[in-house]
Amino acid sequence: MLDTHTPEYILKQYFGYDKFRPMQAEIIEQVLSGKDTLVLMPTGGGKSICYQVPAMLMPGIGIVVSPLIALMKDQVESLLTNGVPAAYLNSSQSTEEQIYIEDQCIKGNIKLLYISPEKLLSNGSKQFLKKLPINLFAIDEAHCISGWGHDFRTEYTQLHILKSDFPQVPLIALTATADKLIRQDILDQLRLPNASVFSSSFDRKNLSLTVRPGREKFTQLMDFLDAHAGEAGIVYCLSRNGCEELAEKLQRSGYKAGYYHAGMATKERSFVQEAFLKDDIQIICATIAFGMGIDKSNVRWVVHYNLPKNMESYYQEIGRAGRDGLPADTILFYSFRDIIAWREILTKTTDDEKRLELQLVRLERMQQYAEALLCRRKILLNYFSEHLSEDCHNCDICKNPRTRFDGTILAQKALSAVIRLNESVNMGTLIDVLRGSRNAEIMEKGYHTVKTYGAGADLKTNEWREYLQQMVNTGILEVAYQQKYALHKGVLSQKILNGSLQVLLVKAETYPITQTKPA
Ligand code: ADP
Ligand code: ZN
Repeated sequence: MLDTHTPEYILKQYFGYDKFRPMQAEIIEQVLSGKDTLVLMPTGGGKSICYQVPAMLMPGIGIVVSPLIALMKDQVESLLTNGVPAAYLNSSQSTEEQIYIEDQCIKGNIKLLYISPEKLLSNGSKQFLKKLPINLFAIDEAHCISGWGHDFRTEYTQLHILKSDFPQVPLIALTATADKLIRQDILDQLRLPNASVFSSSFDRKNLSLTVRPGREKFTQLMDFLDAHAGEAGIVYCLSRNGCEELAEKLQRSGYKAGYYHAGMATKERSFVQEAFLKDDIQIICATIAFGMGIDKSNVRWVVHYNLPKNMESYYQEIGRAGRDGLPADTILFYSFRDIIAWREILTKTTDDEKRLELQLVRLERMQQYAEALLCRRKILLNYFSEHLSEDCHNCDICKNPRTRFDGTILAQKALSAVIRLNESVNMGTLIDVLRGSRNAEIMEKGYHTVKTYGAGADLKTNEWREYLQQMVNTGILEVAYQQKYALHKGVLSQKILNGSLQVLLVKAETYPITQTKPA
């Protein structure tokens, strides 16, 4: 006889699946043992199972905090269809309805309760929750807690009360955002110092990655569309005006195009969205407002007409293509003008100085990606703490490789200097040490006595800068932004120091490919 008290049984019985996807079983085990957990998995990875199964296995009720009312409703309906007693509570319901649901929970008739953060934090909710035998809290879309994320929600910042009011109840936070800074922010803000972090691969192999110089963009877009006749796609633009103008230009060229941005009435927006879902519109020109919660699996391409403001947004936005797993193409048009535009926007809209600095750092990483000479997927994944051992062969750099050389010795020199300087200096100072500069800071701090002093005198400052940047991009070195940009050893450093990993660098002369100065 089957043991009905195993995760596998629940998975088969209620969800109809035979086996867990990578990491689901470990995560469930962790939650069942009462520990706090942070789950980072791309959209479609199967996050829901990670809290639904343990909530059903344990006595009591699981509480799921979810920010989107529409999504909440869908989830509950599909659970009910599968025979799982589930319900939701949010402010769109009548008081009678809410009281009825609460009553059902108290009577023990519900295993999973979805609740909006507003409702959870409202007066009286705590009393209600205290009456329930809660077996876990799940916080879906947990990145909403971070002001650095693309979808900040003020209510989310209050969710730390869950840990203080219910210290014994295990908490599982889930997000499709793997950005390192946001990850740390989630752990800090939810007060989960001891949580285990599970991160599944964020590699979307079916998406091709291309960066093109942002010149004659419309002509380039036309050529691109010729090669993608009839295929649905999204063009992300920086401004609302930009969206409208581009959509109009495309219409004049005979394309079924629409636009979408936050300045439109809700009705207008749902109309456009609906038309896109039904393939009545082929192309949507949109600001970042478009996409969250949109489930269209056959988006075949995404074009960034302007540079996104950080890698996280970029990843989310290109991720809307190829959800069906079939090949999809992405292009980013890069011009330095966009960097300037973003700097202005961020400076104007961010009043907190620290936050502004972080936003600018994130923008800089985006710029580095756009200007990179190495496999873009390696850089993209490195940003999310994932390391590809092979080049991807599905990005413009891989398809068009630059001249490379064995840079292992250079990397070893850089790393050994970083270590001897106790990981305390920034890139500029490191280059001075490597090149044996005799400037005041070096002499004052005694860096000229360090063993690797002058070991890289054969390279120019700019060459070192380029190579060190490539090392940062690939996880050999790491920039500690919160420690005055000091360079630290990266995750790959050990392998490089002991000679078990060869470092291939791109010759600095072939730089720049993209324009880095305003025209
Ligand atoms: P996420 O919340 O990470 O975006 P979901 O939880 O909605 O993803 O899951 C995405 C899809 O994968 C759903 O259709 C879900 O039923 C399916 N799925 C999840 N786990 C498994 C599994 N172990 N085997 C097969 N399909 C699964
Ligand atoms: Zn590549």
